[in-house]
Amino acid sequence: MKIAVLPGDGIGKEIVSETLKVLGRLGIALEFEEAPVGGAGYEAAGQPLPAKTLALAKRADAILFGAVGDPKYDTLESAKRPEQAILGLRKELGLFANLRPAQVYAELAGASALRPEVVAGLDILIVRELTGDIYFGQPRGIRPHASGGREGFDTMRYSESEIRRIARVAFDAARKRNRKVCSVDKANVLETSRLWREVVAQEAASFPDIELSHMYVDNCAMQLVRNPKQFDVIVTGNMFGDILSDEASMLTGSIGMLPSASLDANHKGLYEPIHGSAPDIAGKGIANPLATILSAALMLRHSLGQPAAADRLEAAVKGALRDGYRTADIYTAGTRKVSTADMALAVAERL
Ligand code: NAD
Repeated sequence: MKIAVLPGDGIGKEIVSETLKVLGRLGIALEFEEAPVGGAGYEAAGQPLPAKTLALAKRADAILFGAVGDPKYDTLESAKRPEQAILGLRKELGLFANLRPAQVYAELAGASALRPEVVAGLDILIVRELTGDIYFGQPRGIRPHASGGREGFDTMRYSESEIRRIARVAFDAARKRNRKVCSVDKANVLETSRLWREVVAQEAASFPDIELSHMYVDNCAMQLVRNPKQFDVIVTGNMFGDILSDEASMLTGSIGMLPSASLDANHKGLYEPIHGSAPDIAGKGIANPLATILSAALMLRHSLGQPAAADRLEAAVKGALRDGYRTADIYTAGTRKVSTADMALAVAERL
C-alpha cells in the first residue's frame, strides 16, 4: 500500500513526521513517498501543487496531508497561494465526499465551550459534499446593476447524481455507526434543496435499516449547540457543510484533535487534520499531532482496508489521553504537558 505523504508548511511538517513514526509501529507494510505541497511546493517548483506531487497523489492508494499556508505567501497572486493546492487536489482527484467526525473524549469534555454534560460522549459524523453547490456553480460574477452600481451573483446547483452519490456515502457510513442519518437543507426556500431532499429520500429506500430525518440548516445550527448528541450522521451540501462542520468542531474543544477524510468514488482519499499550518507555533515542537494521527486512522479504515489497525490506533490515542498526556492546546491543571514528539511517542507506546 503506497501512501503519498504531503507535509506542506508550518506545523504540517512536524505533525506528519511524528504520525509516520506512529504508523511505523502498526506492523503493517506501508510504503511512504513524500513530496512538497503548498508553500513548500512553490519553493521547490514555483507551484503550490507541483506536477510531480500531483502525479504521486494520483499513483498512491491514499494521501496523508499536513497543512499548507504561511503569511509570507499572502502577497502572491491567488493561483500561486499555498491554499490552492488543496482545491487542486480535490478537483484533480474527484474528492467529492468530506467526512468530518467530531468526537468528544471523556477526558477532554471540560475543554469544550459548552457544558460538559452537553458534549460528554459526543460522537457525530458530518458528511459534506465537496465539489458542487454555490462554491462551483456557474454563472457567477460581479456585473453592473440596472439601478446603477454593481451586483454580485453566484449559482447554487446540484445534479441528481451528485446528490445521490453523497447520500450513499452517508448511508454507508451510518451502517458502521448508529444507523441514523439527518439530511440538512433549506427546502423551505431553495429549489436546489427541494431536489436534494427528494433524491436523498429516494436513495434511502435502498437502506431500509437506516433511519432518515430531514432538518433545515438554520435549525441544525441551533440543535448542534442545544443538543448535539441527538445526531449520528449529518449529510449536507458544500456550503452548509462548511459552516456546520466548523461549528461542530468547536463542540470538541480543540482544533488540534479533529481529523478529516476527503474521498473519491473508489474509496481513495486525502486525509488531513482540519486545522491549518499554525504559523504562530510552527517550529516550537508544541503542536498537537493527534488530529493527524486520527486522520491516519481514517485512512486505514476508509482507503487501506485495515479497520482493525484503525481501531488500535484510535484506542492508543484514547489511552494516551486517559493516562494524562496533553499538548499545550488541551492542557489543564493536573495533567502532563508534553511536546509534539512526546505525545506521538505516548501513542506509539500504547500500540
Ligand atoms: P490554523 O488552524 O493554522 O490556526 C488557528 C489557531 O489554532 C492557531 O492559534 C494555532 O496555533 C492553533 N492550532 C492549529 N492547529 C493546532 C495544533 N495541531 N496544535 C495546537 N494548536 C493548533 O488557522 P489560521 O491561523 O487561520 O491559518 C494559518 C494558515 O493555515 C493560513 O495560511 C491558512 O490559510 C492556512 N490553513 C490551511 C488549512 C489546510 O491546510 N487545510 C486549513 C486552514 C487554514
